[in-house]
Amino acid sequence: MRPEVPDHLLDIESAPPGFLEHVLDLAARMRENPANWSRAQEGRLLVNLFYEPSTRTRVSFEIAALRLGMRVVNIAASDSSVKKGETLLDTFRTLAAMAPDVVVVRHPEDGALAPLAAAAAPGLHVVNAGDGSRSHPTQALLDALTLRTRCPGFPALKVLVAGDLRHSRVTRSGVALLKRLGVSEIRLCAPPGLEAGPRVSEGVRYFEDLDSALEGVDVVMMLRIQHERLAGMAIPDSETYHRRWGLTRERLGRAAPDCLVMHPGPMNRGVEIASDVADGPQSVILEQVANGVFTRMAVIQALLD
Ligand code: ASP
Repeated sequence: MRPEVPDHLLDIESAPPGFLEHVLDLAARMRENPANWSRAQEGRLLVNLFYEPSTRTRVSFEIAALRLGMRVVNIAASDSSVKKGETLLDTFRTLAAMAPDVVVVRHPEDGALAPLAAAAAPGLHVVNAGDGSRSHPTQALLDALTLRTRCPGFPALKVLVAGDLRHSRVTRSGVALLKRLGVSEIRLCAPPGLEAGPRVSEGVRYFEDLDSALEGVDVVMMLRIQHERLAGMAIPDSETYHRRWGLTRERLGRAAPDCLVMHPGPMNRGVEIASDVADGPQSVILEQVANGVFTRMAVIQALLD
């Protein structure tokens, strides 16, 4: 049975039942045979509207759209009328008047996309590419696709998410999706002051110490410190942080033997993750990137179809 398809993808929590599973299945099918989808959305138009820096997310939305036969327009806020004082909503309405089919938005404010979705006419789909510390639904989906592909026992897994959980939108969306997909044990570990909020922490195991958190886990996802969102908060220098909270090869030895190492990027090598771990045999960081394209193709296809 086909699931209910929402008009927009704003976050994991509001997606209708079955929709995210449908996207994951579709992404896996697309990955098997990408050429079959090369004209699936021919003639349609996607606009990338980014108010924050991005490498992976912006480019993979662009490549995803091109692989579906769409045309793409990229707008960086630094080159647009935002510089002249235009509001996000006015910019969005202006773009919407030019009749794109999908607008992908990244914005530094939590919840910034809800008013855009409310203002969108039928047929225009808004996709969240990251809003503040709140949500990053396509990152959660590409991570889940990577886990489903790599871990035969999925969802019977112990997954640890560690780092700056408080300011990371990857935490909130990722944990929400892991819970929804029924992952057996979710562990969180953060330095003092960087813990996740109460909603994220519900039903998960919290650890204060990274060595204990790593004991026997099947997957560890490391997150960088979100310097752009610290608002003056003091944090230890890189070396001290790495010594206490960084994923080193020695620490990884505490996890299950084939424990997968994930990171959404951008990585700060020598801070939250050691280079030999990031580039080591257990790392699936570049697979996450590759899955990002298929996941975003599937999101676009599912919304437009
Ligand atoms: N690229 C991810 C994001 O946009 C993770 C990060 O920046 O740390 O949230």
